[in-house]
Amino acid sequence: MDSYILAMDQGTTSCRSILFDKTGNAIASSHKEFKQLYPRPGWVEHNPVEIFDTQYYTAQDVLHKTNICPEQIASIGITNQRETVVVWERDTGNPVYNAIVWQCRRTTQICDNYKKDKLEPLFKEKTGLVIDPYFSGTKIKWILDSDERLRLKARKGELLFGTIDSWLIYNLTGLHFTDTSNASRTQLYNINTGVWDREIMTILGIPDTMVPLQRHSSANFGKTKNDLFGREILVGGVAGDQQAALFGQACFETGDSKNTYGTGCFALVNTGHNKIESKNGLLTTLACELDNGLVYALEGSVFIAGAVIQWLRDELKIITNASETNDMAASIQDTGGVYIVPAFAGLGAPYWDPSARGIIVGLTRGSNRAHIVRAALESIAYQSADLIHALQEDSGKKIPELKVDGGATQNAFLMQFQADILGIPVVTSSTPDITALGAAYLAGLQVGFWNSTADIKKQWKEGKRYMPQMNDSQRETLIAGWKNAVAAAREYK
Ligand code: ADP
Repeated sequence: MDSYILAMDQGTTSCRSILFDKTGNAIASSHKEFKQLYPRPGWVEHNPVEIFDTQYYTAQDVLHKTNICPEQIASIGITNQRETVVVWERDTGNPVYNAIVWQCRRTTQICDNYKKDKLEPLFKEKTGLVIDPYFSGTKIKWILDSDERLRLKARKGELLFGTIDSWLIYNLTGLHFTDTSNASRTQLYNINTGVWDREIMTILGIPDTMVPLQRHSSANFGKTKNDLFGREILVGGVAGDQQAALFGQACFETGDSKNTYGTGCFALVNTGHNKIESKNGLLTTLACELDNGLVYALEGSVFIAGAVIQWLRDELKIITNASETNDMAASIQDTGGVYIVPAFAGLGAPYWDPSARGIIVGLTRGSNRAHIVRAALESIAYQSADLIHALQEDSGKKIPELKVDGGATQNAFLMQFQADILGIPVVTSSTPDITALGAAYLAGLQVGFWNSTADIKKQWKEGKRYMPQMNDSQRETLIAGWKNAVAAAREYK
């Protein structure tokens, strides 16, 4: 009987389960959305029980649809929305609060206080991360601070915390584990030493009895409880979504990089065993580690990427779907000098200007819908180019070509413009589900389904290759215009 890897891809709005065969092909998948909870402006929560139930449903569904039995599953891989955190009771496994989602800004004040106390350099040096509500640490503190009884229970060692990978592993196996890539997003994990950081946990008031045990990303995370699939299945691979995508893109060597084009963009470069502190506002984080020591990555993100296309559709209503933007943009020679800086939520790396707001500049009487659409697409490429330039500067290495994935890579105009603006080839993978594939690879390596990263590298197949066609002077002129537009967005307050 053929065997497969079951990848569980737990995202921010939905859960997906995908079966991969030995060639790395996705043979079937099942997908289900779950509820987003917005209890107050700026707050975002998920029901942890619903997350597990939804994920479990999709796993059952994909097996059912394909008539593949649990005996044929060699290993399970998990990849997940990062930073989102759950606190639950050690005895009962019941969550004491909803999952607080990465997008949730409720701990802004807590973060501001730590910054005022000049703790940012310490946090940054130890965890690689800036102090921001985005990361899990202050979210856990908020939960414990919200109720004295919880604080007391935590002190008595009765509570556990975990990012979503941990929560899924706990429900699947009964064990309390995480992997190092997820641990590195909590802001409680020392990325120099590869252990939970007592000093930072003490500052945040989080007892060390709450932490999961950390493992390499390809490791034994326990076996599923018998009643779930009718037999035990090993959970053999775990990684946060962006690190899983880096692994799925076979970016195993120092200098290998990828950019994911979804709602936002996430660019990561593998810096090997070399921990680089960014001078350009990038984060230092842990990539998937096998068993040969900590592997570092530099990471930068664009907050509004594909989201600017959703804005054209839902707010401006000048398009009806994302895919029509390709032909509209290609129907004209250029934007006629129009730039959009979609700083709807401020600007991230390398500018880090939370008070910047979006602008459209360079309008003339002749500017039309196509110019706006094209400027929106180009803004995704310019913002990504800013990240790639920062990654290159920090790592001291030129990125020779960029591997890309995510929904917006379907847009050929955008990919060509990206190659033109970067002056390097932009290359898609032939597999659309790169993130889930990364988790599958980690799980498969653990059980000998695949033998080595060299094996995996052979499986990576190029989809489309976009070669740069723009000449240098045109590129420089366009980028200079973009820089002016960004300056205008930052000036207008
Ligand atoms: P996420 O994982 O963040 O939900 P996806 O990888 O599913 O994102 O990509 C969805 C995003 O990509 C949306 O923001 C959408 O506007 C954008 N997108 C999808 N198709 C296209 C397209 N053909 N052109 C431009 N943007 C697109």
